[in-house]
Amino acid sequence: MWLVGAGPGDPALLTLAGLHALQQADVVVHDALVDKRILALAHPDAELIYAGKRGGKSSQKQPDISARLVVLAREGRKVLRLKGGDPFVFGRGGEEALALVAADIPFRVVPGITAAIGGLAYAGIPMTHRATATAVTFVTGHNLYGQVPDDLDWHALANGAQVLIFYMALKHIEEIVDRLITGGCDPHTPAALIAQATTETQTIVETDLAGAVAASRGISPPALFVVGEVVRLRSGLDWIGALGGRVLESDPLGQRDDRDVG
Ligand code: SAH
Repeated sequence: MWLVGAGPGDPALLTLAGLHALQQADVVVHDALVDKRILALAHPDAELIYAGKRGGKSSQKQPDISARLVVLAREGRKVLRLKGGDPFVFGRGGEEALALVAADIPFRVVPGITAAIGGLAYAGIPMTHRATATAVTFVTGHNLYGQVPDDLDWHALANGAQVLIFYMALKHIEEIVDRLITGGCDPHTPAALIAQATTETQTIVETDLAGAVAASRGISPPALFVVGEVVRLRSGLDWIGALGGRVLESDPLGQRDDRDVG
C-alpha cells in the first residue's frame, strides 16, 4: 500500500515515485483536491474510489476511509491512497498510516509538494529570504473541530513569526487576522491570498493584514493565506506575471546598497 502526495494542483508537480506507484496500483483512493489529469495516469484497469472532503465537511468520516483502506489492502489488492499536496502536511496521512500499522499492513510514503511550497513558488514569493525571513511557520486555520486552533501561542505567532502560512484559512480569516493584530502584529504587514495555486485558475491577491478580510471576498478555496515581509518580493519575482508582460522590479525591498552585507 502506498500513501502518495499528488502535489498542489499542476499534474506536472507529481513526483516520479508517485507516478510509478500510480502505474502499479490496482485501486486508487483519492481526495477531492486531486486533479483529474493525475488520476488519468493510473493504470487503465485501476479502480478509482473518491474519498474526499470539501470545505471541511466530510462526505466520508476519517475512520471510514481508514477502515476502507484496510479492507481493500486485505483483499490482496495494491492500494494507493492519493492525497493533495503532501500526505503528512495537514492531510491526515499520519492517521491513515497508523490505521495500517494497527492492521499490520505494510506501506510506503511518497511525499508530495505541499500547497505552501508549490503555491508560493508559483506566486513568486520566496518562503525564506536572507534579508527578511529566517523562519517559516505553517498553521492550520481549522482544528479537529473546525475551529481556529486555540492551543497555539497566538501572541508568539503575532510577534515572533517572520513568515506565517495558513492552510484552510478562508473560513476563519476574520478571526485569524483579529488574533494576529490583537497579538501585536502590525496591521500593515504585507499579506497575500493564494487560491487554486498551480492550476489554470490560480488567483493571487496582495494585501496587508488589515486588508486581508476584504481581499478574501471573492476568493474561492482552496487557498493559502501568507503573512510576512517576503510577500513584498513578489513585485520582483512574479515570474508567471512576467511571462505575461509584468515588468519585474530588481530591488523590491529597496536593499540594493546593503544586500551583500554578511
Ligand atoms: N496535504 C495538503 C493540504 C491539505 S489541507 C498539502 O500538503 O498541500 C487543504 C488546504 O490546503 C486548503 O484549505 C488550502 O489551504 C491548501 N491547499 C491545497 N491545495 C491548494 C492549492 N492548489 N492552492 C492553494 N491552497 C491549497
